Amino acid sequence: MDATHQLAAQPLIACHECDLLQREPATADHCNVKCSRCGAALFRNVPNGINRTIALSLAGLILFIVANVFPFLSFEIGSQFTQTTLFTGVREFYSQGIWLLALLVFITSILAPLLQLLLMLYIFIPLKFGRLARQTRPAFRLLQHIRDWNMIEVFMIGILVALVKLTKMAAIVPGIAMWSFVALIFLVTGAHSSIDGRVVWRRLERAQ
Ligand SMILES: [Zn+2]
Repeated sequence: MDATHQLAAQPLIACHECDLLQREPATADHCNVKCSRCGAALFRNVPNGINRTIALSLAGLILFIVANVFPFLSFEIGSQFTQTTLFTGVREFYSQGIWLLALLVFITSILAPLLQLLLMLYIFIPLKFGRLARQTRPAFRLLQHIRDWNMIEVFMIGILVALVKLTKMAAIVPGIAMWSFVALIFLVTGAHSSIDGRVVWRRLERAQ
């Protein structure tokens, strides 16, 4: 079969951002395919993607709970010993009147990761059993937008910079929550990269 015939045999796929109809290129596993007009992500070829996304999201949810319940950092300045949790920062900023920063920290470190994990489970657990959650379409769109605006890594770099500066003033002990938080970042990223958008859009089209 020559290249033209091979291409014609590929199924058509519509871009969900700009509606351009195009032929799916034949790709190797773990390849990202983007729209030829607007560059939006069309799909990523992931074998066993649904199971991977569910497994990584569930593990992420457990780490999220650990990251929020257990001590994030412990400080020792002289005889004073202070323990903080992830939420302590939000509360401190808020009580000092820096509510915009409090909101930003809350969204990037708590709300965004939790929302992504819950959305992934909401979409992919029913898909695994051949069903569709009622709000799959808006949920999947929201998930893709949150991923594009994900600032969790930036937040982590901010924490590290602050830590390096603080080590001159106090003895700092990272808590179990901080390690969980770091692992959580990797799990959320891994769960995202296991998503093959075609699986979701095809099931939605079939259900129409
Ligand atoms: Zn497009």
